Amino acid sequence: MKIELKDVIKKAGEHIKPDCKAVIFGHVNPDGDALGSTLGLKHCLKNVVSKVDVVLPNSYPYFLDWMPAAKDIIIFDKETQKAKQLISEADLLFFCDLNDPKRVEDIATVINKDDNIKIMIDHHPQPAGFVDYIISDTTVSSASELMYEFITELYGENLNLETATCLLTGIITDTGLFDHNSENLRTFEIVAKLLENGADKKHIIHKIYNENPYRRLKLMGHVLHNKMEYLPEYGTAYIYLTIEDMDKYNYQDGDSEGFVNIALSLADVNFAVLFTEKDNYVKLSLRSIGDFDVNEIARKYYNGGGHTNAAGGKSYKSLEKTLEEFNNIVKQYKTHIVNY
Ligand code: 5GP
Ligand code: MN
Repeated sequence: MKIELKDVIKKAGEHIKPDCKAVIFGHVNPDGDALGSTLGLKHCLKNVVSKVDVVLPNSYPYFLDWMPAAKDIIIFDKETQKAKQLISEADLLFFCDLNDPKRVEDIATVINKDDNIKIMIDHHPQPAGFVDYIISDTTVSSASELMYEFITELYGENLNLETATCLLTGIITDTGLFDHNSENLRTFEIVAKLLENGADKKHIIHKIYNENPYRRLKLMGHVLHNKMEYLPEYGTAYIYLTIEDMDKYNYQDGDSEGFVNIALSLADVNFAVLFTEKDNYVKLSLRSIGDFDVNEIARKYYNGGGHTNAAGGKSYKSLEKTLEEFNNIVKQYKTHIVNY
């Protein structure tokens, strides 16, 4: 870890005291790294401060509901008053796996007081300066990996089982089972430490990847057969999921997890997108291989962001119009996409 980052961690850590109350936030549509980093920190701080809670803007997918203390997470859009109360009483606010207040949606309107200390622990590029301490490193696999550095720098290498389990979950999911974002040996050193502290790799992988609901596999079959477009000339593939498709297959949050990676796995495809139709907008999940920067595409066209190879955003046009415009955007970027 860079010396400058260690210094920021130490300075931020000076504010974490036994009588503190802490609230930990993760991003909207939370994934394994959002839960891994927030719950991992919670399980560490429960022995350090007087009160600690995790607050998320909306609910997490079913395949993460086994995570230690996932059931105690306060979902802002369901328990708004309770969450507001906790936030107003907090001395410490942590922002994990997110780089911008927009990523906590409506929570952003209730965090702008300055009688607390705000600490960001994140791995996305271009962090916004809404916090007192920015602990950010884009070279790590995940926010959970950086959380390991944060926790061990302040409290030593012995982690409780819950923290180890949560952090390993974040690393496994954000690297797609060590497929991407895992080029640094440090990631594997940390994985070894988490295993030493008792994290059960087999159990984590089983719960997330090998307990598919039947409805999800039926939906997957349907979309791969009927709702995937392949543009070989542009090295691009996309999948579009309509409200009708989702109703037909009794869609639950998390059922389309990984679909975009299936499109990306096509030979000669370097750019893949999943379009998901919602009531008022279309959600996009963008993925790439190589130098083609989907964070830039998400920021420029879809009011979103993310990383070079994984980003998200929204379109407020109809699905039909969104797809039509997307086909034109892809044409402009042909050389960038294909020449990887
Ligand atoms: P996903 O496609 O899995 O929703 O998101 C991929 C990556 O992009 C994640 O790192 C996620 O945090 C980020 N991301 C997804 N949607 C948005 C968005 O609307 N805005 C920003 N800034 N980042 C996003
Ligand atoms: Mn992440």
